[in-house]
Amino acid sequence: MSSEGNAPTFAVIGGVKAFLPKGYETRLIETSFGNVNAHFSRAAGRNIVIVHRHVGGVEHVPPHRINYRAIVMAIKQLGVERIISLNSVGTMKNHPIGSIVLAEDFLDHTKSRVSTFYNDRTVHVDMTEPYCPQIRQVIKDVLKKKNLVFSEGVYVCTEGPRFETRTEIRMMSQFGDIVGMTGVPEVVLAREQGLCYASVCIVTNNACGLGEKKITTSEVLDVLEDKNKLLFDIVVETIGQLPEDRSCNCRHSTIDACL
Ligand SMILES: [Zn+2]
Repeated sequence: MSSEGNAPTFAVIGGVKAFLPKGYETRLIETSFGNVNAHFSRAAGRNIVIVHRHVGGVEHVPPHRINYRAIVMAIKQLGVERIISLNSVGTMKNHPIGSIVLAEDFLDHTKSRVSTFYNDRTVHVDMTEPYCPQIRQVIKDVLKKKNLVFSEGVYVCTEGPRFETRTEIRMMSQFGDIVGMTGVPEVVLAREQGLCYASVCIVTNNACGLGEKKITTSEVLDVLEDKNKLLFDIVVETIGQLPEDRSCNCRHSTIDACL
């Protein structure tokens, strides 16, 4: 892999109110799953592409209707091998609001989403380590260097768009740490394409029934407004510190996986 030329080598998938640096160029990327608006820029001396997952035909695409396959395929078509995803989450384990949790595994509680590129043949992609260990290690180093509060945890993805019930949170908190609506199937689709994928989650609220009052979208947006520039800075620093060569096994997850 080389950062020479104009081709991007990193992708950032941003969530609600995601940040865009100055001086980007937007191009429409056509895929067989739909078109994606991609913003091209430079970060830490490398070419990057940024996709905002909630931006589409309607003003704000709800999480269960995001075209995850088009987004991941557009990134793949650009020749990018590494994705850093930004996700907002509720905490089920009392993480401080505004703190960062790196996803280390996931639980899939989605219901109606197309979760695979392999509809015509049987491919059992390996999910032993869904989030790229090499990228995660560099992100952890960056967070430590910046003295930021962070932890690692299991991401539970719900279908949405409603928030969860108290009983659902009670059940999910037995196995998971944070809950969100956009992490799956994105991570699965990236792995099916042999891409490295890491998720930096920002805690915007307590999960339903764990806070003192009901969750409002304005409290979520306030935290994101406040933290999105910081998140982007973390991403840029991570991109700058990552070695060019992939030392992980992410690209091999479909080897010996086909029936
Ligand atoms: Zn990897």
